[in-house]
Amino acid sequence: MIYLDNAATTPIHPYVWSEMKRFMQMSASLGNPSSIHSAGRAAKKILDDARLEVAGFFNASPSQIIFTSGGTESNRLAIAHAFNKSKSNSILTTEIEHDSADTISNMIFTDIHTTRISKNEAGELVMSVKKPLVETGAVSVMLRNNEVPIVWDDSVHIIEQMHEHGWITHADAVQFAPHEVIDVNGQHKMFDSMSISGHKMYAPKGIGALFVRNPEKNYLYDASKQEFGIRRGTENMLGIVGLAAACRLFKTRRNKLVQREKECAEAFENCFWARLRERGVDDVRENGLCNGALASYMTGEDAETLVLMCDARGVAISAGAACNSHESKPSRVLKAIGLTDAEARQTIRVSFSAMQEPVNCGIGGEIVADCIADLKGK
Ligand code: PMP
Repeated sequence: MIYLDNAATTPIHPYVWSEMKRFMQMSASLGNPSSIHSAGRAAKKILDDARLEVAGFFNASPSQIIFTSGGTESNRLAIAHAFNKSKSNSILTTEIEHDSADTISNMIFTDIHTTRISKNEAGELVMSVKKPLVETGAVSVMLRNNEVPIVWDDSVHIIEQMHEHGWITHADAVQFAPHEVIDVNGQHKMFDSMSISGHKMYAPKGIGALFVRNPEKNYLYDASKQEFGIRRGTENMLGIVGLAAACRLFKTRRNKLVQREKECAEAFENCFWARLRERGVDDVRENGLCNGALASYMTGEDAETLVLMCDARGVAISAGAACNSHESKPSRVLKAIGLTDAEARQTIRVSFSAMQEPVNCGIGGEIVADCIADLKGK
């Protein structure tokens, strides 16, 4: 299969998998890190080492890293905390948040300020943020979207000013982390918390992390003994080992991984457009410029039918965010960028990873284009 749905989930990288297997062969895999016997202490050592590795990924310190079950839990934990802490009903967020951040923001905040999305001359979708007129509150923004390639304009610095004025700030970096460097003491110093998810960056599903700038006991729930009192439950050690290995992979090979991914995207785009031209299809539109990891196309044909046709020909693409793919409603993200309901239902997404061969992505591009042309009878 030519797998072009990496924004939904990436494969586990062979290095990550080898580290997970190595862990399972160690006696530390037997122990619970909260136990005081030697197997427990060995597990605790693995947990501490993993936390150090993940902290390095954020340029944070280990005491600021909380392991969670993924991006969803990290987002919800941080946003609920921001609500409790800010003592305000106001949140500044974007129209294109992932459901895990959007639904909880809508559930707990009543005064919601969102952003504006426009297209610049280069054809990029650009997101601007306008400072709300209220004194203080919470901010929750995603750094990269999972359905369309969107870039932030300079107004992102407003968040920095808001943070200086006491706003509590959270960033969803789930789709950002595999592509760009995170530095919570540098360019991301305006964020109080930040989420990542293992299965978007070559680690397994069901593991994630939350960076918390000022971890306090009773962050949200009652104090627990795990995760510095912030998150209850026995740690998912195998997942944690996998996430730490993925972070190490990015530390040593980020440029190569990102470069390979870009080559895959380029090969796809070249072959896709060339084949569409060959087949006389001229009404497919790109929603924002491909950012080297993700592209979104308004095809004029039913997206679900296309996904199934491509699947039957060995190519996995998607009709939008995987979490919403069983919903009949058109994507609110696609509507936020100005698409009508019908156009949103005719939009497909392709997303790349460093674990594909560019040549296969090119073949994938031709197959997707052929499916579109076949549906159009061209
Ligand atoms: N935020 C974004 C931007 C995402 O793309 C996703 C996953 N689609 C999540 C949060 C949720 O992450 P997880 O699947 O690990 O719960």
